Amino acid sequence: MTHDNDYSREIYENYGGDVEKFIKDMKGEELFCMCGKKIVVNKFMAYPSDKGLMDDEGEIWWVYVHCEHCNYDIAYWKVKNRIGVIKAEKKALKQFDI
Ligand SMILES: [Zn+2]
Repeated sequence: MTHDNDYSREIYENYGGDVEKFIKDMKGEELFCMCGKKIVVNKFMAYPSDKGLMDDEGEIWWVYVHCEHCNYDIAYWKVKNRIGVIKAEKKALKQFDI
């Protein structure tokens, strides 16, 4: 699902609140998109929503990462899950010194 409309914009750490926390945690991490391509998470997009991450002014944003390979918009909670998968794999490989 894509949300390329007037309400989508790039979102930054300086929005504060949960948005800032999410971006700080996720920035620079890697994940696999549903299309199978690896993405380095650098750019965060968002639009105002009643569900999502709150900034320091109490406004709620549906945050997502756009995949330029397949144009899929990966919702913030999927971003978090998918980064977790890669981290777990790396940890497992390290453990066995592969
Ligand atoms: Zn993709």
